[in-house]
Amino acid sequence: MMKPREIFLRAMGREATPRPATGSATSIVTVDLMDKVGVWFPEAHLDGEKMARLAAAGHTEIGFDNVMPLFSVCQEAAAMGVEVDWGRAEVMPTCRRPLYGIDDEIVIPEDLLEREPCRVALEALGLLKQWLGEEVAVVGKVFGPWTLGYHMFGVEEFLANTLLKPEAVKRALATLKEVAVRFGAAQVEAGADALCLADHATRDVCSPAAYEEFLFEIHRELAERLPCPVVLHICGDTSDRIPRIRETGLECFHFDSKVPTAVARGLAGEAMALMGGTSNLEVIQKGTPERLRREAREKVEGGVDIVGPECAVPLDAPYLNMKLLAEEAKALGGTELRIAW
Ligand SMILES: [Zn+2]
Repeated sequence: MMKPREIFLRAMGREATPRPATGSATSIVTVDLMDKVGVWFPEAHLDGEKMARLAAAGHTEIGFDNVMPLFSVCQEAAAMGVEVDWGRAEVMPTCRRPLYGIDDEIVIPEDLLEREPCRVALEALGLLKQWLGEEVAVVGKVFGPWTLGYHMFGVEEFLANTLLKPEAVKRALATLKEVAVRFGAAQVEAGADALCLADHATRDVCSPAAYEEFLFEIHRELAERLPCPVVLHICGDTSDRIPRIRETGLECFHFDSKVPTAVARGLAGEAMALMGGTSNLEVIQKGTPERLRREAREKVEGGVDIVGPECAVPLDAPYLNMKLLAEEAKALGGTELRIAW
């Protein structure tokens, strides 16, 4: 019997598996999952053991083939010095105010990885490796420099300066990319088998020309420098850039339901794996058992390698819908469906 870990990692490499893989590179935590485990936000963002216990439920309660403990978008921003509102059980953390102006030189603290928000995540990855590492894939997460730019400068200041001061933006991105490299390498050392690289470069905030000018080379460099398989997560309609993303060498793309599955597979080609694509609002939150069964089949037949939610799951969604989606996907045989791909 092939273990979930191997199924997940083989699926990331588009190798044959005995059944479809399931899982997510982004948060699968819901309030009802917190209640089930007895660990809640915001403590789970800043306590390594609680973080690991909640993440483990992605496998033990939901049945996904991976676990991923970095639920918030603020861990490395907080470690960089950004003031963070850690939220509540029903509210995800947010960055309170920008740390820099666009002309400032960003300084990565020497002790970045020892600072609490990074340290607890590394501790959680180590615990997950210890508890479940034989059985399931342990996935870490780093933010790409585009997202970190929002956190350092504020979204408006950052985006305005992609037009007003592109050189300053490029300088900032070059520094911020090193945060992803350092934190990512430390996560692999702590026990991560693979990493999510999350970069919020959706079309409405990053035009195809801006992706080309600011990000393509950086994503290609990160694919090379991060020492494990990497899944890039970008929300929204990414159909205009999937053909470029496949040229970065990143192993897998975690896509949003705004891109129809067949379109995503066509654009991704044969080499790049696809994860996700299941609508949070329509399917994870509101799906009937029949809808979830149909969704699993559509995704597998459409060429999605790892079935799961498109992005961080809304906190008020029922986690049992993810469990059902995973069960339905896993019940579909792998081999004959894969021949059609
Ligand atoms: Zn997303």
